[in-house]
Amino acid sequence: MAEVEREAMEYDVVIVGAGPAGLSAAIRLKQLDSDLNVVVLEKGSEVGAHILSGAVLDPSGLDALLPDWRDMGAPIKTPVVEDNFYMLGEGGQVRIPNWPMPPLMNNHGNYIVSMANVCRWMAEVAEGLGVEIFPGMSCSELVYGDAGEVKGVVAGVMGLAADGTPGPNYEPGMELHGKYVFLSEGVRGSLAKEVIAKYDLSSGHEPQKFGLGMKEIWEIDPEKHKLGTVTHTMGWPLGSNAGGGSFIYHIEGNQVYVGFVVHLNYQNPHLYPYMEFQRFKHHPMVAELLKGGKRVAYGARAISEGGYQSMPKMVAPGVALLGCSVGMVNVPRIKGNHNAMLSGKAAAEAAFAAIGAGRSSDELADYETDVRGGAIGADLKKVRNVKPLWSKFGLVASLMGGGLDMWANTLGFSLFGTLSHGKTDAAATGKAADFAPINYPRPDGVLSFDRLTNVAFSFTNHEESQPPHLKLKDASIPISVNLPEYAEPAQRYCPAGVYEVVAEDGKDPRFVINFQNCVHCKTCDIKDPSQNINWTTPQGGDGPNYPNM
Ligand SMILES: Cc1cc2nc3c(=O)[nH]c(=O)nc-3n(C[C@H](O)[C@H](O)[C@H](O)COP(=O)(O)OP(=O)(O)OC[C@H]3O[C@@H](n4cnc5c(N)ncnc54)[C@H](O)[C@@H]3O)c2cc1C
Repeated sequence: MAEVEREAMEYDVVIVGAGPAGLSAAIRLKQLDSDLNVVVLEKGSEVGAHILSGAVLDPSGLDALLPDWRDMGAPIKTPVVEDNFYMLGEGGQVRIPNWPMPPLMNNHGNYIVSMANVCRWMAEVAEGLGVEIFPGMSCSELVYGDAGEVKGVVAGVMGLAADGTPGPNYEPGMELHGKYVFLSEGVRGSLAKEVIAKYDLSSGHEPQKFGLGMKEIWEIDPEKHKLGTVTHTMGWPLGSNAGGGSFIYHIEGNQVYVGFVVHLNYQNPHLYPYMEFQRFKHHPMVAELLKGGKRVAYGARAISEGGYQSMPKMVAPGVALLGCSVGMVNVPRIKGNHNAMLSGKAAAEAAFAAIGAGRSSDELADYETDVRGGAIGADLKKVRNVKPLWSKFGLVASLMGGGLDMWANTLGFSLFGTLSHGKTDAAATGKAADFAPINYPRPDGVLSFDRLTNVAFSFTNHEESQPPHLKLKDASIPISVNLPEYAEPAQRYCPAGVYEVVAEDGKDPRFVINFQNCVHCKTCDIKDPSQNINWTTPQGGDGPNYPNM
């Protein structure tokens, strides 16, 4: 395609992604100087459309950003009143008492929220301060300056035909230039991935680790609903096949968030994370809660799990990585929203100081110092060994060793120093021949659902005439390598049924990509054992349309 001519707009700070990190950065910039020009670009059809989180919110991030949030009409109404933790077996459960848990695991003072709604509210606050927010704008490319610095992004390319050439409704999009560009794309950001590779930001750090989080919203029998109750489980059905666990949060409107996380470092390529989630709902304790209720929404998203030792360098010339584009989830607490907010605030403060000093397009080193040395670093450092212990020694050892280490860290020392994660999740995948296939029960259509039925409840929509946004580096690998060696795990790890191997009589098998189903979880980009799938942004406004996730 010939060189595309685009209009360019100049800003002080260009922010990619209207999640808690990006919106916090925008709010803080305008609090510091209302004359700064700040723009936020969001690929979802509206702010919140792509936000999928538990969520139990630790309000420390919001307290720092908007100390008066309790008087500002925030959709944060449900304090946690009860906190339960169970170890599940197939037919029963054992409650783990709260007293041996380190204090950091306590949910007292936290809130059960829809983060999608919290982000919608934060966007209103930001707009009230004069931030420009453009939903439906995918940022598909980075713009580099002459010295190799990140100068801006290309956003709003629409109407490409399936072969990538301009279609009848083609819009070339525009360039948005900033003195600084903040990438707050969340976990496995596509532009962040490019920046990390280009500037070698992971060098000297552990590989990032991930889980796949799947979630349904259920409306349940009011008699069974216990507003403010938080339940976490581990154990069945995953057993020794994979790390992970579940969460059940009772929020307003007789709704419960039922979620399941599978750590993506599992070895057995026959594992089917979506089916593990469906099976989980048939546990007697969970089935009893959901019986008579109905599932009203479904979604999935990867969650970063590498923590402290996996955070890459987060600044390069002209650009800073925020929130889960760095990976700031406290794994045992399953909480990252507070750190995402704190990182947005820290990045904004560093950019404000730099711009005030007449600087632009350089490295915001003060931001990185703040993250590693401040509240975020302190939060993540205490729990840094939980995930590696779990990966190496399994659930029970990690509960005991990780628990003791969290206690020790609370007192200011560690039993293990800093443990390493070792392999990437893709490299952890074993060969199909070395593992037994797993037989999953068929969904019953009442408590459990087949994947495509559930995807309809993510309200996902993609313009079908555009090029697939899931790009294979080598189109032959799924059938020539992944199928014989790994039984092509994309068929199973994708929680939206995007990938199929179609075997018709008398014909060679074909790899089919149903990109229209994609819920933007990024699992394929992470888990493909050949690292052959590149998740790129589809045109703006496409993807899931989550209600109150
Ligand atoms: C199942 C699950 C449960 C969780 N539970 C909790 C919990 O209970 N409590 C908690 O604190 N944390 C929880 N987390 C973690 C939490 O979701 C993350 O830490 C948090 O979302 C990180 O915020 P962020 O702003 O960095 O990214 P995100 O919230 O992911 O926001 C990124 C935004 O950027 C947009 N975007 C991405 N790329 C582009 C692009 N190229 N162009 C334009 N827009 C783009 C996305 O559409 C999205 O709106 C959970 C995560 C999962 C997956």
